[in-house]
Amino acid sequence: MTTATSTTPPPVSPEVSPDVPRPFRVTSKVLETSDVVTLRVVPVEGQPPPFQPAQFSMIGVSGVGEVPISISSRSDDHSAHAFTLRREGAVTNALANVAEGDVITVRGPFGIPWDIDRCRSRHALFIAGGIGLAPLRAAIEEAVALPSPERPRITVLVGARNPANVLYDAWLTGLVKRGVEVVVTVDTVPDDVEWGGATGLVTDLVATTIESSSQVEAYVCGPDVMMHATVAELRTNGVPADQVEVTLERNMQCANGWCGHCQLGPLLICRDGPVVRADRLGDLLTRSEL
Ligand SMILES: Cc1cc2nc3c(=O)[nH]c(=O)nc-3n(C[C@H](O)[C@H](O)[C@H](O)COP(=O)(O)OP(=O)(O)OC[C@H]3O[C@@H](n4cnc5c(N)ncnc54)[C@H](O)[C@@H]3O)c2cc1C
Repeated sequence: MTTATSTTPPPVSPEVSPDVPRPFRVTSKVLETSDVVTLRVVPVEGQPPPFQPAQFSMIGVSGVGEVPISISSRSDDHSAHAFTLRREGAVTNALANVAEGDVITVRGPFGIPWDIDRCRSRHALFIAGGIGLAPLRAAIEEAVALPSPERPRITVLVGARNPANVLYDAWLTGLVKRGVEVVVTVDTVPDDVEWGGATGLVTDLVATTIESSSQVEAYVCGPDVMMHATVAELRTNGVPADQVEVTLERNMQCANGWCGHCQLGPLLICRDGPVVRADRLGDLLTRSEL
């Protein structure tokens, strides 16, 4: 007899459509920084649906609205989903104000995931700006879990505004113990704060990290301006555009390619993204609308 564990994929139940909001109960709430929280949630009935790294769900508070948020837990953890979100406006503030035990709505998952298969036996270079580390977390875990000899050299470069804005401190420290190169850099360090990491832009770390550009598979997530500069720096250092993936974020409503709210050039980000390879990007990272 086999016993179900949290790493056993749940049976697919055809009656649970990703388009229907389901009630999920908040089982834990962690304050990551002054304006970022991580909610761990489980369905009131059944199990959370399987997902792949960088996929997102539409999560909401009844009477307020719903927003796209990436699933930031491990993809082999079938017991719960985690969402790390920053307070921006009405919905993210309502979500950040929920308490353990409260019920929120979740529908999904949606979107094109990171292509982790492409980093097998290569140099997996994960580059995050600010809350962009959240959609990368599951991907980094998948890369770390690749069996030797397919397990690549793994580097995680993280940029944050200041030390108080660095996400997942303990997890990053744990990654180092698991053989991952981690470099955290901040824009500024307040006078009264001790900081043992780097200072400067995350893009400044790219050149010294790359040993063999043709072997790099890069995964980039952060504000558009940061991703634009990072893709340019990777290209300058010889990394081919088709070995770079970024995630695009635009305002979304339906998450199914129906409503057009998230159109960016030829792409509907909910359907054709959020992960897009840099050889398809053109000038999209410099456009705020259509
Ligand atoms: C695929 C995807 C994954 C995302 N994952 C995360 C995540 O893991 N964690 C997280 O904190 N946020 C994530 N976001 C961004 C999040 O959806 C927005 O912050 C949220 O929609 C803001 O809604 P609001 O009602 O709180 O604020 P609003 O009042 O709607 O907006 C507040 C400010 O945020 C801007 N904004 C609104 N929606 C977006 C958007 N989709 N992208 C960028 N700016 C926006 C508005 O222009 C405004 O300036 C993701 C967005 C997408 C498209």
